[in-house]
Amino acid sequence: MARASRLVKPESQDLIHLRVLRRERLSPHWMRVTLGGGEIARFRSMGYDQWFRIFLPLGGDEGLERIPAKANKLLGYLKYLRIPDGVRPVMRNYSVRAYRPATATTDAEIDVDFVLHGSAGDGTAGPASRWAETCEPGESVVIIDEGLTFNPERGTSKVLLVADETGLPAIASICATLDASATGLALVEVPSTGDALEFEHPAGLTVRFVVRDHASKPGTEVLAALEALSDLPAGGPDLHAYVVGEQALATNARRYLVNERALDKDAVSFCGYWRVGAASPAPKSQRADAHAAEAAA
Ligand SMILES: Cc1cc2nc3c(=O)[nH]c(=O)nc-3n(C[C@H](O)[C@H](O)[C@H](O)COP(=O)(O)OP(=O)(O)OC[C@H]3O[C@@H](n4cnc5c(N)ncnc54)[C@H](O)[C@@H]3O)c2cc1C
Repeated sequence: MARASRLVKPESQDLIHLRVLRRERLSPHWMRVTLGGGEIARFRSMGYDQWFRIFLPLGGDEGLERIPAKANKLLGYLKYLRIPDGVRPVMRNYSVRAYRPATATTDAEIDVDFVLHGSAGDGTAGPASRWAETCEPGESVVIIDEGLTFNPERGTSKVLLVADETGLPAIASICATLDASATGLALVEVPSTGDALEFEHPAGLTVRFVVRDHASKPGTEVLAALEALSDLPAGGPDLHAYVVGEQALATNARRYLVNERALDKDAVSFCGYWRVGAASPAPKSQRADAHAAEAAA
């Protein structure tokens, strides 16, 4: 993960083994994967934009059994890197779109919404996107809870939420957690009209989708929309801004809010979720170029 404000840590960061329960195509660029089973009872929902590391079994289940404790910290990560290529699971960051607690008749479940991006043919698809498109019920994954980037202690009555599509699950979950009396604005950039997934939100919070032109760099159109706002919720001690998505969006929007709109630095939670043209680390066997070569053969 790139630059970010301080996180609200979870109660436990132990490894949690889960299974894919189902997969549902929501729109051209959205795949919902529902996780549960296994050790789901150990997951503690925090609401808001709770996120986690997910380890995907692209080299088979053996790799999942070899993930060391604290693989999200430096020493654990170095041990994780010692798992041989071809067996080592891919580690990525995703948000809890929705959590449903256990009932008398059902176990708890977590929905994760994956953006489908790029294509294997031209080497632009990432391993997580490819996995989400093809995973099957019963497959195992491991997660490590990472807590929140949105810091509710800084205020929840008036919010300004800005993201590209990768932040849509987080914003939807924040809106589901906010008090019904909360007010504010959510600005979300999406790659197509069909990807503008509606979500429940407090009545006093307005949601605006910005549909990106194919030629635009992700994040630039929602940043322009933010800068063009004449009805930006007025700053003040109770306004909490939240900006996530492509790295340049997160840093530029934060800079704009602090420098041009006089928000206190502490009133802006932000996080670079991904970077155009920069793949997250992956074992050699899982890199996009390996799959592009396969697709071309
Ligand atoms: C805290 C946190 C929460 C996140 N929550 C979510 C979430 O709920 N849903 C979600 O879909 N993503 C989420 N992301 C973003 C996700 O982790 C990245 O998009 C990730 O890089 C995808 O991994 P990959 O293996 O598909 O691609 P990578 O191997 O990382 O990248 C391969 C290529 O694809 C490009 N790329 C990566 N992501 C995208 C994208 N979204 N659109 C276009 N090109 C892309 C890269 O620039 C690179 O060129 C979150 C990130 C963080 C840090």
